[in-house]
Amino acid sequence: EESRRAALIVRGCLESMLATISDNERLLGDIDSVAGDGDHGRGMVRGLRAAYEAAQDPSLGAGSTLRAAGASWADNGGGSSGALWGALLQTVGYVLGDETAPSAHVVASALREGAATVCELGGAQVGDKTLLDSLIPFVEMLNLCVAADASLAYAWRCAADAATDAADRTRDLVCRIGRARPLGEKSVGTPDPGAVSLALCARATAEVLEA
Ligand code: ADP
Ligand code: MG
Ligand code: MG
Repeated sequence: EESRRAALIVRGCLESMLATISDNERLLGDIDSVAGDGDHGRGMVRGLRAAYEAAQDPSLGAGSTLRAAGASWADNGGGSSGALWGALLQTVGYVLGDETAPSAHVVASALREGAATVCELGGAQVGDKTLLDSLIPFVEMLNLCVAADASLAYAWRCAADAATDAADRTRDLVCRIGRARPLGEKSVGTPDPGAVSLALCARATAEVLEA
């Protein structure tokens, strides 16, 4: 059944994200320790593990799976990133729903809505040196490619590449929000940990969608 297939893909994406973030746990912690508190790698692994475990109920469709995963990430991840990623997954799941196999257009809108939730909840703007600095370019490229009738896999790959470039460019920014703000100037020369981990997750997901 198509809605089950979508849930399987969602679980595969979370598994791939967990593997990539686990491989980069140390790097993310090191980046966060330059101007933050050094716990970003640990928090992302903890949150993603909880999300992945909550996504195992085979009776749930894709949207409900994402909502359960997001709720568990928010409860267990800790830190600003846990709350924001939890809200992102919950909104994406809410917009996707369980009824039918979601089209690329629905997926792109769901990510756009998810990014709006992150903006609202965190109160950050593009340029403040947060995960929004890779999430917004990701969502824009995804929607642009889907509007041009690209497949979801191809659109997601282009969006993940855009997020990767954008995350790297955050090294030039001064942090204006979150735990790193008091040491904002010190963060110049180092990319934002949340922007880097978001780009890693986007690429991990692209691999699953292309398979
Ligand atoms: P904490 O800062 O609470 O220790 P993490 O280290 O897990 O949490 O995550 C830090 C990342 O969270 C930052 O690098 C940034 O990308 C993101 N972040 C923090 N505050 C905000 C916010 N208000 N809006 C968007 N992203 C934020
Ligand atoms: Mg931190
Ligand atoms: Mg912390």
